[in-house]
Amino acid sequence: MSVAFRDYYEILGVSRGATEKEIKTAYRKLARKWHPDLHTGKDKEAAEEKIKQINEAYEVLSDKEKREKYDRLGANWRDGQDFQPPPDMDGFHFYTSQGGGAGGFSDFFETLFGGGSPFGRSARTTRRAGPVRGGDVESELELTLEEAYRGGEKSLRISTRETCQVCGGTGINNNTFCRRCGGTGETAGYKTLTVKIPHGVHEGSRIRLKGQGSEGLSGGAAGDLYLKVKLLPHSVFKVKDEDLETEVVLRPEQAVLGDQVSVPTLDGPVLMKVPPGVRAGKKLRLRGKGLPHHKGRGDEYVIIRIDIPERLTEEEEKLYRQLAVLRKGV
Ligand SMILES: [Zn+2]
Repeated sequence: MSVAFRDYYEILGVSRGATEKEIKTAYRKLARKWHPDLHTGKDKEAAEEKIKQINEAYEVLSDKEKREKYDRLGANWRDGQDFQPPPDMDGFHFYTSQGGGAGGFSDFFETLFGGGSPFGRSARTTRRAGPVRGGDVESELELTLEEAYRGGEKSLRISTRETCQVCGGTGINNNTFCRRCGGTGETAGYKTLTVKIPHGVHEGSRIRLKGQGSEGLSGGAAGDLYLKVKLLPHSVFKVKDEDLETEVVLRPEQAVLGDQVSVPTLDGPVLMKVPPGVRAGKKLRLRGKGLPHHKGRGDEYVIIRIDIPERLTEEEEKLYRQLAVLRKGV
């Protein structure tokens, strides 16, 4: 939907560089001149239309934030020209006219500032133009299990969206879409950040980096960057929520007789007691060797595997045969 551009400076008869005082003076003069009570008949109707335009122009040019926003459209627009708001220009909030003519303002005004009216109440308080906080950005942070467990610092290069230097973020340059940014008002960039990883982050944990999101507009604060933790696959441990799983391979006689075996944990290898007669697939628990969580720490489960020796020494084979004979007798 396009609307007719309004040249507010022209309507008030002031230059683009006019001071607040000059604008006020011009407005007062015109408001007196076009006061509908001073006119009759057809002139009265014209005066009513004129005073509406004057009020609208004054509403924008007397408001620092509105004027700033209006000025960003550039100086090349002419009154009455077809104005098509660029789609989705970040930080530059074009509003769709609600129709029905809630206020006395033009569609152009409503497109730019929302349904306002010179004496309106609701619309103006809920849709203030002004400093706009930058958007939050979410990105993925890949961590090894050890990095997540220990925490610490990690530096990473992230792509950023920066305010376009050519159009100043408006997406419009020389009365047309900015070529540098394609009308989005933003360009791609990179920055290197040092991220402090809190001890014990999990898969899906979000680390907030305050002020590292999108830049704000009109003095608005920058948004935040959220890094969502993604744990890289680990060669030894499988993560199951806050618990870990690993495997240990026993020789048959260890499984039969029980033993003490070395098992990897995030804190380094520990000795684990294997009870006699343990079966393949049995899960043995190492309490408190899992991942930290809000209530404490998860557990590590050690899954028993039993490896059958492929080659036996003569003596071993002899012993196995003896065993076989013994088992037959039972
Ligand atoms: Zn641009």
